[in-house]
Amino acid sequence: MARKRNLKLKCPICKKPVNSQDADFPFCSERCRLIDLGKWASGAYVISSPLQDTDDGIEDLSRDPDENF
Ligand SMILES: [Zn+2]
Repeated sequence: MARKRNLKLKCPICKKPVNSQDADFPFCSERCRLIDLGKWASGAYVISSPLQDTDDGIEDLSRDPDENF
């Protein structure tokens, strides 16, 4: 009964079904892979960092580097 299943996912770029065994997985093609790369390069994907939610403890990061010595 343990049949090997193909994991079917969707290409994050064009939403086409992608076979998990595909060479370009998780993208449907190299074209979509490159599009995704371009998105990262152009900053379309922004890492969601809750800068507004942090309290004053984050101020340590902007201190003078000399003070860490
Ligand atoms: Zn695609």
